[in-house]
Amino acid sequence: MRHTMMHFPLTIGGILTHAASIHGGVEIASRLPDGGTHRYRVADFAARVARLAGALRGLGLQPGDRVATLMWNHYAHLEAYFAVPAVGGVLNTLNLRMAPDDIAYIARDAGARFLIVDDILLPLFERIRASIEFERVIVVAQDGAATDDAYVDYEALLAAGEPFERLEPFAGGIDIDENAPASICYTSGTTGRPKGVVYSHRSIVLHALCISLPDCFDLSMRQTLAPVVPMFHVNGWCLPFAALLTGVRLALPGPRLDARSLVDWFEQEQVTLSAGVPSLWCGFIDMLRSAPDMRARLSPALHLIVAGSACPEAMMVALDELGIRSTHAWGMTELSPVGAFSSLKPHLAGGTAERDDEALRYRLKQGLPLPFVQTRVMTDSGVAQWDGASVGELQVRGPWVAASYHGGVSAQSWTDDRWLRTGDVAHIDGEGYIQITDRLKDLIKSGGEWISSVALENALAGHECVQEAAVVAAPDPKWQERPLAFVKLRDGRHATGEDLIGHLASRFPRWWLPDAVEFVDEIPKTSTGKIQKTVLREIAATLRAK
Ligand code: ADP
Repeated sequence: MRHTMMHFPLTIGGILTHAASIHGGVEIASRLPDGGTHRYRVADFAARVARLAGALRGLGLQPGDRVATLMWNHYAHLEAYFAVPAVGGVLNTLNLRMAPDDIAYIARDAGARFLIVDDILLPLFERIRASIEFERVIVVAQDGAATDDAYVDYEALLAAGEPFERLEPFAGGIDIDENAPASICYTSGTTGRPKGVVYSHRSIVLHALCISLPDCFDLSMRQTLAPVVPMFHVNGWCLPFAALLTGVRLALPGPRLDARSLVDWFEQEQVTLSAGVPSLWCGFIDMLRSAPDMRARLSPALHLIVAGSACPEAMMVALDELGIRSTHAWGMTELSPVGAFSSLKPHLAGGTAERDDEALRYRLKQGLPLPFVQTRVMTDSGVAQWDGASVGELQVRGPWVAASYHGGVSAQSWTDDRWLRTGDVAHIDGEGYIQITDRLKDLIKSGGEWISSVALENALAGHECVQEAAVVAAPDPKWQERPLAFVKLRDGRHATGEDLIGHLASRFPRWWLPDAVEFVDEIPKTSTGKIQKTVLREIAATLRAK
């Protein structure tokens, strides 16, 4: 028997068409570099996407061609997010926080033909200009900065462009297969050169649908979403696509991501939902705590998604105390990026003090896998039971999980039976909640036994004087490796290494305790705001050698 359903491709043009026809009146707000606000409606956005699509075709964009962007989170970046794939191009977002050499490498590796760049990022572009040649460089002049003749002005391009309206399947436009590539993003390269993951229209649409579910981002027409996760990192966690799909009101924060600017933006736009890495929320929380009336000015419904690194317990408790709902999520570039979300099953929800503690323990886990994402934990002796204790490497597969890297590099990231090896060490409990205990390369092996750097970091972050903590392995002649802690203290607070080790002593066996605590002004971060353990390991090795 054959099914009798239509073959209807899942494409980004399809999301756009739905948004334009159903959510045309929904506002999209963007914060400009000068602090002003740009506002328009989805209907205007869709008209400009059609113009950009037509203009790109006018420049000679062919299906499969890559268009790079070097941009913050704002309306023009959103336009590129839709126009490029809708005409068959492949969006190549460049992470502006990476070293210029890596940015140029990525654009070259992706084979980008065109670049769209914010005027305020032209100084950065100048630093890569010599090492990569784009056919056209299109400049979005938001700051009124003068652009020279070598560049194409974004607004002039749109004004001259013949709108290309037929972006949805069957509209007589270009026929886009749902398995065609739509965008390429790169891992942040914490181990070797960045690696490209190429998402298809289908993988993006399915991922956008599933992350919109109530037990995930809970996107709906009733939310105002401020994606603070940069749109140059893993498709902004796919939120731009999911937002247009669901009719969320978008409040794009632009380049100002310091705590003060975020609080102001959240107040001005009455943001109800946002998502970002823990290091970003640290300053935000401190600011709200320092001025008690500030919380009252934000939406009472504010919900923050904390992902990208483990959410420290102290952070979740602080958000609870501020009356801000928080949910922990796990993902990686290879997963588009969301893999798991720590939403509570009803029988695990709190209510009494004891249940609240249990609920918090579950909320701090990395969570339940999204529909279609299959998970397993692989130990030396095979696939582990879901018993909440058997630890091994987390492996996954699913419709938005990468099966290879662009250019076919690094085949060791997949098992022989084609599961993705995440490099994360985890256990899964009987309810299906994943708990990541470390990354394979961050585990500390002391005298042949493993020590979890994450567990020590979390406990240190719970000390009242500690702003941030990182624990790494230092080489040791006797034990091979010993833990060493790096700590940034809160402003105006004082604690000694002994105080902090004493704080850990009641929670961990003696041999887990760091040999020393190094106090630092800043913990080094990667381009995506994660603790840069490679750098800390080098410092630890140098300190040990002294
Ligand atoms: P990179 O691997 O270069 O850091 P990604 O942004 O893809 O780039 O990072 C994915 C990794 O981030 C995961 O494999 C995991 O180690 C870590 N990660 C993401 N979310 C969480 C989380 N909620 N808890 C712990 N680790 C996380």
